[in-house]
Formats: sequence, C-alpha cells, structure tokens
Amino acid sequence: MKLYELTIVEAHALLKQKKISSEELTRSVLERINALDDKIGAFITVADEIALAMARQADSMIAQGMETPLTGIPIAIKDLICTQGLRTTCASRILENFIPPYDAFVIKQLKKAGAVIVGKTNMDEFAMGSSTENSGIQITHNPWDFNCIPGGSSGGSAAAVAADMCFGALGSDTGGSVRQPASHCGVVGLKPTYGRVSRFGLVAYGSSLDQIGPITKNAADCALLMNGIAGYDPQDSTSSPTPIPDDYSVISGEGLTGVKLGIPREYQATEGIDASVSQAIRKAIGVLETLGAQCVDISLPLTRHAVSAYYVIAPCEASSNLARYDGVKYGFRDTNQTGLAEMQRSTRSLGFGDEVQRRIILGTYALSAGYYDAYYKKASQVRTLVIEDFKKAFEKCDVIIAPVAPTPACPIGLMTHDPLQMYLGDIFTLSANLAGIPGMSTPCGFSDKGMPIGLQILSNHFNETAIFKVAHNFQQATDFHLKKPQLDID
Ligand code: GLN
Repeated sequence: MKLYELTIVEAHALLKQKKISSEELTRSVLERINALDDKIGAFITVADEIALAMARQADSMIAQGMETPLTGIPIAIKDLICTQGLRTTCASRILENFIPPYDAFVIKQLKKAGAVIVGKTNMDEFAMGSSTENSGIQITHNPWDFNCIPGGSSGGSAAAVAADMCFGALGSDTGGSVRQPASHCGVVGLKPTYGRVSRFGLVAYGSSLDQIGPITKNAADCALLMNGIAGYDPQDSTSSPTPIPDDYSVISGEGLTGVKLGIPREYQATEGIDASVSQAIRKAIGVLETLGAQCVDISLPLTRHAVSAYYVIAPCEASSNLARYDGVKYGFRDTNQTGLAEMQRSTRSLGFGDEVQRRIILGTYALSAGYYDAYYKKASQVRTLVIEDFKKAFEKCDVIIAPVAPTPACPIGLMTHDPLQMYLGDIFTLSANLAGIPGMSTPCGFSDKGMPIGLQILSNHFNETAIFKVAHNFQQATDFHLKKPQLDID
C-alpha cells in the first residue's frame, strides 16, 4: 500500500509509532499531485514549500509527544477559505492575486493541531454552482471518469480526496456544495449544523446558509477533521456556544438497534430521479435495517418549494456580499477607466463570470424597492415552513435518509447552458441549509457506468453524532467507500 492511500486514522497510528514521518507522508501526496493533477485539475495552488515546512514542524511536535490526531496529516483547502500569505482566489478573476493577511478560524485550528496544508482547491466561482464548471480559473475532472464533472461547488476538494491527493479537505456548503461533490466523487462529505463551525475567514456567499465542512475517505476520518475545526469562535457572531456533546470520533460500530430512520415520502416521488440512484438508496436502507435500524414514514411537503426559496435567498445575500468587490479596496481593478463609476462597472463586468453576474442581477432585483415583500420576504416565510417540516419529522425519527443528487455525475458541458436545470439538481440538499441542520453524504453504490452514488443522512441541529453513528455503521457493513477510481499511474 502506498502512503497516500492511507486514511487519516491509519496515517495517524503510523506517525504516532514513528514508523513514518509527516515529511514522507507529505512528499507522497505532493508527488501524487504532481503526477495526476494536470489531468484532474483539483488544485488552483499547490503549496509545496509551505507544506514541507509544516510537515517538519509536525514531525518535531510528534517527537516531543505533543501530537493530535491531525498532526502531520496533509489537508487541502477550498480556495475561498482565507490562508495567511497563501493566495485565495475564490476561483474568480476578481480575486486572482488576493493574498489574505490573516487565517480563517478553521485554518488557525488546523495549524494548532499540527495539520499540513498542501494547497488550495478549485471550485465554482464564489461557490455558485454544482459542477465546478463555473470556475474562472480551470475545469476539474471527476477522477472516476475524466469526461464527467466532479460536482460542485467544492469539486476540487472532493476530487483531491477521491484521487488520494490529500488525506482530507475542507469545503463549504451553502446549498449542497460539500455533500453533492462528495457524492459524485465517492467520498464522505459533511455539512455541519449552521453555527457549529466558525465562518470567520470564509469568503461569504449566502451568509445565512454558508457552512464549512470536512471531506474525507471515511466517516471516522470525517469525525477527526470535524473535531479539529468545530467549536465556538467569538469572531463569528453566528458561531454557536453550544458545547460539542462529546468527541465526534468516539463512534461505536455496535449496530443501529433502536435508531429510527425517517424516509421522506416526497423524495421517492421526485421527478427526474435516476433509477440507479433510487435503487442504491433502497439497498442502503435495507443494509441499515439489517443493522437494527427501523424505518418510519415521514413527510417533508415543503421540499418542492425549497429550490424556489433558496434561489431567491442565496442570490439576494450574494448580491449584498459581493458588493465589496469594487476594484477599490483589493483584488482586480480595470485601470483603463478614469471615472470611479466606470472603473467599478468595468472591474465587475470583467472580474466576475457569467453565473456570478446572473446571481448579482437576480439578487439586486429581488431586493429592490417594491419587490422585497414579493420575493425575499416570501422566500423567508417558506424557509420558516421548511424548518417546521423538519421539526415535525424529527419528532418521529433520529435521522432522515435521502438521496444527495437526483443523478450521478454528468458529462462536462452538459448543463452549462441550462442554469435552471442545474438549480433543480440541488433539490435534495438545499433544505438542510434553509433549516440549518447537518447532513452527510456517504458512498452507497455505483451507476451502471461506474459512477459513485451518495447516501444522504440528515439529523436535527447539533446532532452530528447521530449522523456519524449511522455512517460509520453503514461503512462497517459495506465497502463502497473503499473503492478507488482506476487512475493511469496506479
Ligand atoms: N448549487 C448551489 C448554488 O449554486 C449550492 C452551492 C453551494 O453550496 N455553495 O447556490
């Protein structure tokens, strides 16, 4: 077995026993990136030298017996999380040369834990999209089939984990952007409860929806990475002081007796859901039942309105958040213009890609005088009803089981000219962001073309532990998460 193939749990054990060094581990992923990433395009920036310096530091932490489960572990970071001294582009021309003067809270936490940052990953520009095709910098290819999308917007992070170019990665999830690419790339991705992980230093898209989340090779690793980044941060006013109930990594593989799985009626009847997806979900539910879980029928009737509500709320918030990129304070500026207004107009027209401009226009329109009540307020009312739906459902069950996406990863280019179709593909993930509840994607099958399919596990606010328990037990009983894409150089 090659070093880069290890999981975080396995690598940590070997580091602790001093059988390997973090420098060796880091070199193995850097070589892997070097050999593969011109074909995959997961990384916007590879931080070779920074990574090796961090690895040496980690080795000295280990030598002194001061290691944590993340010490010396190479991690990749979605390129919208600020890293001091390391370029952070949001995959946008407008921030192409932005070097943050500070670290995001999660980066500070990872550094404290001794993790190694290997680089910054590709994404849809400002996290707007579901395929990573909206990146203003490059395309990312799915490691399972280079002709397919990796999903999005954290497509670079998911592809990097799937191709063993890092041991874990951070993404961000505003409407599904951790779970959906994890599903498409056959890895594990968790969107934590809103407020569980600080957003300080995360470039804002939809502030009432955004959440940073871990992407890993299995549930146990996901728990370790979550332990490293979760917790209260006074610098983020939406960060929750609710204590983390217990160490997420203490998950038992003792079966699921007494666990109630909510099966939403509406999700089975959703139009456009691929047969391979329904079949994989059905089989997964069967596996969970053999582990002792019990199915209960639940109803989430507001699901069909979630897409409309989200695609009003998210663009409204984005139009306000993105007003700061005006060519004055930082980032790209069109210096060919002389007047301030002309400079700002031209900077924004040249700096932002089509999808970002589409959302800014949509959001600005919906928030303009006279329209607020008809759009943002209405959407917020629907949001309250979505929250009610989940509240009622969780009176009857511990977790909700659902698909992540209606179809496996599609070919690159298939949906770029049809944004509406792309938006509709988010139907199963958006509601969790509207309600602020946590959700995970874990591998549960493959399509007949061999593309991975993810199972979504949702739980009530701050009950990530229930998700870890179900996912870990599922992984003890199945091997979908152990399958690897066949890559030329293997
Ligand atoms: N696809 C959704 C959007 O484009 C979700 C993106 C995300 O979660 N960042 O808004």
